[in-house]
Amino acid sequence: MSTQDKRRRTKAVRAAVGTDPAWHAVMPPLYLSSTFQIDNLAERGPYEYSRTRNPTRDALGDALSALEGGIGTCVTASGMAALTLILHLLEPSDLVLAPYDAYGRAYWLLRALAEKGHFRLKFIDQYSDTGLAEAFAEPPRMAIIETPSNPLMRVADIADIAARTHKAGGLVICDNTFLSPMLQRPFTHGADIVFHSTTKFLNGHSDVVGGAVIVHKDAEILAELQTWNNALGTIGAPFDSYMTLRGLRTLEVRVHRAQENARAIAAFLEDHPKVTRIHYPGLKSHSGHALAARQQEGPGAMLSFTLKGDINAFLAKLTMFSLAQSLGGTESLINHPASMTHVSMGAEARAKAGVTDDLLRISVGIEHIDDLLDNLKAALQTA
Ligand SMILES: *Cc1c(COP(=O)(O)O)cnc(C)c1O
Repeated sequence: MSTQDKRRRTKAVRAAVGTDPAWHAVMPPLYLSSTFQIDNLAERGPYEYSRTRNPTRDALGDALSALEGGIGTCVTASGMAALTLILHLLEPSDLVLAPYDAYGRAYWLLRALAEKGHFRLKFIDQYSDTGLAEAFAEPPRMAIIETPSNPLMRVADIADIAARTHKAGGLVICDNTFLSPMLQRPFTHGADIVFHSTTKFLNGHSDVVGGAVIVHKDAEILAELQTWNNALGTIGAPFDSYMTLRGLRTLEVRVHRAQENARAIAAFLEDHPKVTRIHYPGLKSHSGHALAARQQEGPGAMLSFTLKGDINAFLAKLTMFSLAQSLGGTESLINHPASMTHVSMGAEARAKAGVTDDLLRISVGIEHIDDLLDNLKAALQTA
């Protein structure tokens, strides 16, 4: 583990500890109040109305800024709210580049808003030189990156896309949900804005839906996003912020344990006769292996594979992997992208993105690895 890693863990553990001005509570309290009393009109405190600012939301925002290495964070109600917020930086004439295999609901939102004339949009192939050369023929205002991709774990080169976007005078946005700041820090590769579905690894316990937008350096953009977050009302709730800050404290420990399990599961599946393809950046056979080794601090805890056999029989035997959407919790989950997370993309876009009917995605949890492997072995036997 690098020193930086330890420091990040310390930041998460110590975030807002011992800052309670009222009673010196060690853990920051939860401020549910929608409004704050003003002592006198001449001297105003930072908090007046909770849509605008709230101390619990600020505590989470500060922790996320510290972990990603940015100047400030807008905490939002969901990952989709985070993307919605970012898209409000755009004018109708602006061109947005986004991956053709983006997160299903993000793909839907981008396409729907572009059709309404909110901005111009090009879905691009971020994984090949020819794809990128074609994409950047016209200078974009914004390039959205999601790496590793969902569900095939393709790896996009953040530094390369950032260089091309900056040359065109545009902004680089990176969805860092799949790795979290413990395994990937997009700002160090040139991203201008990072966003998260904090629903996933950051909260990490599958009991909150939330999001965040973190700005690297540009104070004007941060102010613009804060104004929009307040005006749109896309803000995260104090209770959700409290829960997410609590989950965040163990992020580094969880992510590394889950990753260790994922490496073992990937190695096991790669050799299994009923598995036709496996997608995990930690494997040498993966197309993004070398790039991931450079860009990421680990391959992460997400993987997908194609199964030769009866998917329903296989799933019925899986007691250690809940069949459910979402990812990044302490418990292992399995997902059938074609009928679950990627339904809203439509069949054509799904086919293009490689989301076939025999594909399954696993979010590896922190259970004992032997329990996970035993269960997978038994289920594969019946498939
Ligand atoms: C879940 C997810 C989102 C959307 O976040 P919500 O919190 O569900 O709104 C966006 N991007 C990625 C990569 C995700 O996994």
